[in-house]
Amino acid sequence: MKVLMSSSYGFCGGVRAAVRKALEAAARANVLGLPCYVSGSLVHSSAVSAMLSAAGIKQIDGPDGNPPGIVVIRTHGIGDGLRKAFMDNGFIIEDATCPVLLRNAELLRSSSNPILIGDSRHSEIIGLAGCRDVPVIGCADDLCRLSPGIDYEAVIQTTLSAVTLESILAEAGRVGISIRCLNSICQASADRREALVQLALEADAIAVVGDSASANSRELAELAKRLGKPSFLISSPESVPSALLEYDTIGLTAGASAPDELIAAVKRRIENNDR
Ligand code: SF4
Repeated sequence: MKVLMSSSYGFCGGVRAAVRKALEAAARANVLGLPCYVSGSLVHSSAVSAMLSAAGIKQIDGPDGNPPGIVVIRTHGIGDGLRKAFMDNGFIIEDATCPVLLRNAELLRSSSNPILIGDSRHSEIIGLAGCRDVPVIGCADDLCRLSPGIDYEAVIQTTLSAVTLESILAEAGRVGISIRCLNSICQASADRREALVQLALEADAIAVVGDSASANSRELAELAKRLGKPSFLISSPESVPSALLEYDTIGLTAGASAPDELIAAVKRRIENNDR
């Protein structure tokens, strides 16, 4: 059996910087004798959450019930109200929001008729919706919340499936709702998808290292299926499915929140065929 690595996979710049900032915040909190927190999940990866927990960083949803300390803002960002609540309660903010999402929050704030297109339960959309109260469109049915005659400007969830976005925009065109997209899916996500298209040409099956909670990892696994390849989303070496090991050439990629060590461990497990 042969394992082919994708030419683009794993931690993006935003996630790598966020993990570094969180570990630096933990070290600083330790020196100052303060607790260190992260607001929600820093990224959608149980491996990263375990690493942060081992460094003494506690995950919290808000300031209530927690003594002030250093709070790291998660990669997907938080709303202005929650940020203010942390500051009003004496927390020191270490902002690990990805620059791509800071840009999208600015686009949202400065638009005249903004909407969000994405999954209203995803932390990225929750964070953006907390910066400005706007309609969130998650599927074509949600277009009933918009009115014809208004030129809407859409900020789009960076990890939204291209299929979902296309179906929403096509339906908007059909019912006469004008939507201009302000941003595109982030470059790191686009690079991983383009590399997967190439990888799928050479591989019999695709393994994506990433959590099921990670939208960009799920999107990679779904893209592999749309390209006609069996695909497997793998969150740990222990969860490598035996069905994957039946293939001769396995293409290996990973979502933007999968740490290098985890990817290497999954690769070893596949190559050793160690069930
Ligand atoms: S995948 Fe894109 S938007 Fe998400 S953290 Fe990475 S660079 Fe930022």
